[in-house]
Amino acid sequence: MIITEGLVLKERSVGEQDKFIDILTKESGVIELSVKGARKINGKSGSSTQLFAYSRFCYDQRNGRLYLNSAEPIHIFYGLRSSLTGISLASYFAETVRSCVQTGSDTESVLRLVLNCLHYLEKGLRSEALLKSIFELRLLSEIGFMPDVVGCRSCGRFEPERLFFCIRDGGFFCEDCFVDREEGDYFKVGLPVLSAVRHIVLADFDRLFNFRISESVQQQLSALSEAYLVYHLERRLPTLDFYKTLI
Ligand SMILES: [Zn+2]
Repeated sequence: MIITEGLVLKERSVGEQDKFIDILTKESGVIELSVKGARKINGKSGSSTQLFAYSRFCYDQRNGRLYLNSAEPIHIFYGLRSSLTGISLASYFAETVRSCVQTGSDTESVLRLVLNCLHYLEKGLRSEALLKSIFELRLLSEIGFMPDVVGCRSCGRFEPERLFFCIRDGGFFCEDCFVDREEGDYFKVGLPVLSAVRHIVLADFDRLFNFRISESVQQQLSALSEAYLVYHLERRLPTLDFYKTLI
């Protein structure tokens, strides 16, 4: 028997009684568990296999499949359900993780990021826009696509007032160095955006959510972080499009 802690990212019903759940674990990436008799499980153990339940799972491996034995809830993010935009943003987080995290990979930092984002979202402690940008940029950094935040990628200036962020390069260029570059997707941003991206990709987890930015900086950051994620996922997820219809 294997014991792991994980967050339920998706539920799929199978027949009358059973379901599959995808969970994000600390040590094995995203795994799929078969839950037998899910409809009959009530109360505490039933809630532990619901969407956005963070639980301790006991499971067995048989014939290449994983079967749930029992589950004990650690935290159920009930509060997310009180806001349509909140639950939609959480669904986008879940679908994104399922799209880019594989089974068998070490995902302790990704799990920690998602749990933190859901916590701040559930409690309303940060704006949805800020949480979305933190999630997008930090997730990409954790899975190997950290943007280059040293400064201008060409001349090395640390803090130019105006910059261009090139989606394909994943780096910033100052105005002088950008001039002759070939066309591509880029965003013209101010220094506060570079500072925010630096914080998001480099800060320790304890300090990750401890910063504030103005509304105009947030707008630039939102456009940049979303485009950078879509570029690396190579598609727009349906949950992203749905969330954008609500805001
Ligand atoms: Zn430069």
